Amino acid sequence: MELIDPFALPAHEFFKKYSGESLTFNDLCILQPRTIDFPVSSVSLKSRITRNIAIKTPLVASPMEDVSESVLAIAVALQGFPAIIHYNLEIEEQSEQVRLVKRFENGFVKDPITLSPRDPITRAMELQQSTGISTLPIVDGNKLVGLLTKNDYSGRKHSQLAVAERMIPLKLLEHQIVRMEELPEDDFQRLQRANDLLLESHAGVLLIVASDGNIDSLVTRTDIEKSEAYPDSIKDSSKSLLVGAAVKTELGETRERAAELIKAGVDFLCVDSSHGNSAHERDVLGYLKANYPEIEAIYGNVATAGGAVQGIKWGADAIRVGKGVGSICSTSQVSLGTRTQITATYSCALAVRRYCAEHNIEPYIPVISDGGYATFSAIGKGLLFADCVMLGSMLAGTDEAPGEVIYDRQGRKLKGYKGMGAVEAMLRGSSNRYDEEASAGIVGEGVVGMVRAKGPVARWVPKIKSGIKKCFQSLGYRDLESLHEAVFNGEVLMERMSEAGKLEAGIHDLAEYKKDLPLD
Ligand code: 5GP
Repeated sequence: MELIDPFALPAHEFFKKYSGESLTFNDLCILQPRTIDFPVSSVSLKSRITRNIAIKTPLVASPMEDVSESVLAIAVALQGFPAIIHYNLEIEEQSEQVRLVKRFENGFVKDPITLSPRDPITRAMELQQSTGISTLPIVDGNKLVGLLTKNDYSGRKHSQLAVAERMIPLKLLEHQIVRMEELPEDDFQRLQRANDLLLESHAGVLLIVASDGNIDSLVTRTDIEKSEAYPDSIKDSSKSLLVGAAVKTELGETRERAAELIKAGVDFLCVDSSHGNSAHERDVLGYLKANYPEIEAIYGNVATAGGAVQGIKWGADAIRVGKGVGSICSTSQVSLGTRTQITATYSCALAVRRYCAEHNIEPYIPVISDGGYATFSAIGKGLLFADCVMLGSMLAGTDEAPGEVIYDRQGRKLKGYKGMGAVEAMLRGSSNRYDEEASAGIVGEGVVGMVRAKGPVARWVPKIKSGIKKCFQSLGYRDLESLHEAVFNGEVLMERMSEAGKLEAGIHDLAEYKKDLPLD
């Protein structure tokens, strides 16, 4: 291999040299090993969140009260990465959050909301208010007899009428009805054919019926438009957006929670514990893998090579790494077992790769580096080793995250962001994440705080994506796969940044400057 620089070290030698030290983002200088001969725009951000679930942006939204509910989950899935719906919700509420995401852009809306011809028009108005859905197949029993859209009635004039009096009857709908058996069997081809028929029909919705005339599903024009507007959106085989959900390390309640989440259509589960590598987690993971082998599960959090490999042995489909490093986290002050994020991520990722290679596990188990990410370059450094970076604070300020924007005394726009280990959150259910009984002796492992408001996901996340692409391109790599190959075979060299170097790497020696970095 051509010598890139005589004074820098490949990852393996670098971390060997600093063994016994816990290093993090700013400690690392990454040297450019290759000639850059392509633009930032040609970088691919494809990755995997679990063994078999592909994503288009190597990020995931953390299962936290102030981050991941359905609205954010939809917004980020359209940008190429999933959110994990948190579990400080009743089982039914959390499952409903999953359902809302799955229903959002379904391709085929499998269980469309319907009305009977005898329902009052006010029922359609209520449904539009509560769900936003205004295109309603009208069924007698299950048999399609008509269609009601918001163009078919006026709330002012028709609220006293029955649906039958305003619906479009079946005989006027023929051009927008297709029988299931007329569509191809293959999921993808079926959706494409349905989309073509819909466009030809000039209608807003195509109704798919079974051979007995019962309604089966529908495809809407809005959904087609949405998929055209978001080419990076991530979807399952039925074209619904991808979403994950967190479960506890408490076997009793997880049995019921997991069953309901899976019924709601969740794509993967995350056994959410800040203290991974525990007997509780082993039991829950074992239960999930035995009862739902088709549902992939994330295991963690761990910070050691041994903890990561233990997860694989227990059946994990992804390893979540990060202990004591989240922005709202106070674990390092009240407990032990923490480690800085870059050393933890490298050590776990190396161990996972080696274990998978030795045991012919293909594709290898992805590593998710979770917590502590506050700059684009930090994400770039995490992705040198990890397949995915989990974000909390960087998403909590978006419009789509739960909570309202508030203004502080200086007029700054802020949003609330608290740790799942903050006592306030623990009392709502997440004490289990910290192996705590929600009792008088409870010790918080997180704080309640605020972050700067970031505006809509559709404006903020593309900046993060460009930042990551820039990181890859600045080293000369077009995608995560080639970057990882280069890092783990020693092509990418690194050095430890001195304390003086850290000052120099920041903005310095100016009388004043205007803060216009994306993260200011
Ligand atoms: P951030 O992106 O804000 O730096 O970190 C988010 C991560 O911090 C989460 O994904 C989770 O792993 C971790 N976390 C969330 N809440 C708490 C907490 O209260 N205490 C601790 N120790 N970690 C937390």
